[in-house]
Amino acid sequence: MNALEYETFDLQEKLTHKGTKEWGMIRVAQRPNGAWITLPVMLAVGAQDGPTVLADGCNHGDEYEGTEGIIKTFQDLDVSEMKGNFIGVPAVNLEAFAQMCRFNATEYVPQDLNRIYPGSPKGSITNYLSHFYCETILKHCDALITLHGGGNYEYLEPVVLYCGEGDQTAKTSKEMAEVFGFKVLWKNTGYKAGSGIMDECAYEMGIPAITPEIGGQCTRMFQREEHKAMIQAGICNVLRYFGILEGEAKKTEDVLYVDIDYLYNRNGGIHTPVKKAMDEVKAGDTLSIITDVFGQEVDRLIAPFDGVVIGYWTYAVCHPHSWIYMVGKKVAPEEA
Ligand SMILES: [Zn+2]
Repeated sequence: MNALEYETFDLQEKLTHKGTKEWGMIRVAQRPNGAWITLPVMLAVGAQDGPTVLADGCNHGDEYEGTEGIIKTFQDLDVSEMKGNFIGVPAVNLEAFAQMCRFNATEYVPQDLNRIYPGSPKGSITNYLSHFYCETILKHCDALITLHGGGNYEYLEPVVLYCGEGDQTAKTSKEMAEVFGFKVLWKNTGYKAGSGIMDECAYEMGIPAITPEIGGQCTRMFQREEHKAMIQAGICNVLRYFGILEGEAKKTEDVLYVDIDYLYNRNGGIHTPVKKAMDEVKAGDTLSIITDVFGQEVDRLIAPFDGVVIGYWTYAVCHPHSWIYMVGKKVAPEEA
């Protein structure tokens, strides 16, 4: 079946079509060549009433693990057995997705979609897309799973981020993270209102949200199918948690709670990681060495605190002042 084309889109109305699946492209704006910038959406509307869970991928255009995991989840869902709905948006920034790039490079001044939520109806195209997505899809949903990863240049150990503290939205977000199935849980203590980041924006709207991060180009040769299956299992567990699918949403065992910091180098060059994913590090340890084209050391990234390596720049060359390492400080489970 071909994808449908929606000139206008009313999610509430779509959710009255019980026990159906459909998918299509929502028109956002037209390009000079006549082609449309669109928002792809998949609807699995359960036969019975229940909550609506939204999963999206490719807010950053080169993070394809989420896209493939959402497609697989949607294909395998049986709507006749569902008490509630699953909405999949496989690539929010479809222009960036097609350009194999983090952001939409054809925009006059390119912007990072995941730093400008909730966007603006008066903004430039990425800003407008952000607003359009929040208004058309997100605000009608009961929970959000926004999928990210290492993209073309980084590796990320599978980790689920949750934010907020002290209210029901935060509690539900944390419980979603705890059933997703990944072993590392990221308590986001750096959360602040107005950051423009999708899950933090959803939280401010009172919608519980998690950000699972997984993989990167360096893993796709051997782990592509594994990562797709891990995302499908995670989404289905969240659907169980909300009672949309039958069965118990079991809490993941032996998890590690961390709070992650991005660490920046000063000088760019040839980047050689010394510490790898899940390595324990002590303050003062060398994380990576950066050399110039003559093989001479120009920089060295030093761990500023004790922690665990969660992600790092895997591309052979790194930019100056770039987030080349993600190191998690351990958080005690009772404080997570
Ligand atoms: Zn991302």
